[in-house]
Amino acid sequence: DRLKESKVYMRALFDYIPLEDKATPCQEAGLPFKRGDILQVVTQDDPTWWQAKRVGDSNLRAGLIPSKQFQERINPFPHPLPTHEAGLRRSFRLSRKDRQGSSGEGSDPGEPEFLTYEEVTRYQQRPNERPRLVVLIGSLGARINELKQRVIAENPHRYAVAVPHTTRPKKPHEKDGVEYHFVTKQQFDADVLNNKFIEHGEYKENQYGTSIEAIRSVQAKNKMCIVDVQPEALKRLRTSEFKPYVIFVKPRVPESRRRRSAKENSLIAFLQQDEDLQEMRQSAIQIDQQYGHLVDRVLIKEDSASACAELRGILERLERESFWVPISWVR
Ligand code: 5GP
Repeated sequence: DRLKESKVYMRALFDYIPLEDKATPCQEAGLPFKRGDILQVVTQDDPTWWQAKRVGDSNLRAGLIPSKQFQERINPFPHPLPTHEAGLRRSFRLSRKDRQGSSGEGSDPGEPEFLTYEEVTRYQQRPNERPRLVVLIGSLGARINELKQRVIAENPHRYAVAVPHTTRPKKPHEKDGVEYHFVTKQQFDADVLNNKFIEHGEYKENQYGTSIEAIRSVQAKNKMCIVDVQPEALKRLRTSEFKPYVIFVKPRVPESRRRRSAKENSLIAFLQQDEDLQEMRQSAIQIDQQYGHLVDRVLIKEDSASACAELRGILERLERESFWVPISWVR
């Protein structure tokens, strides 16, 4: 029985540094890992310390990691907290507000309350299966809508957007159900109450929103549906039906534009630019802290064309290769 390879895989939802862990029985025997690493759990015999290897690691020896129960019990800190400030080991517990969807309904059973580990398995989409949902989230300056539109325009037979609903009047060249589903304010409000939207918002006094049905109808045509959403919408979308593959697009933020600004010789412009860059960095950090554990892939955007090419590559692999997904999605 001991020769049997363990088939238990966990995605780590927190960083672990054994050398900083005062609770471990042996710091040298610990296995360091980072949030997002996939761990093969070799034994769970001990209730407090598991033995595990990191997938992709050439090191064949297993190391000690805190068990899920131990990690949960010892660190009931609310989420989110910056990892680097954590002197002690702590797992992040989602705050009450955080656990609720943006539309205010109860917490999603698919979302773990404590960010410790999530059991995962390899999953490959079969040809007769519904394509996975592709979800883009972006920090300030990422322009994910533009990216989405560009990739779809290149390949409209394979990829599509979910057609949003709006309360604004239809323009002459538009067709109901193509650019938008045009609905009355009354209908829209009813749909919001009935939880039909994954997200919705207001723009120039009109309502806009994307419905779950709109995603389903793209997938029913066997196309890959690409949505760009506020990260709050992730929890609603993380279901076995959609099996979302989440891509976090971050613009590459240059260190500083000091030199160029000096050339421009405008102090105001220089200060403004620096502030903008700082805001972009902050936005990326914040999303990473709060939603990083739900992200499958980070795409650093240099420019529109290269980001588009990279996204295209990811989408093609998504149809051909297998990926780690929560085991609850395939059971
Ligand atoms: P337009 O009315 O010009 O077609 O769209 C104007 C704006 O409405 C867009 O730039 C975007 O900000 C917003 N919008 C369009 N679709 C959606 C949607 O599905 N959800 C949300 N929240 N906003 C949308």
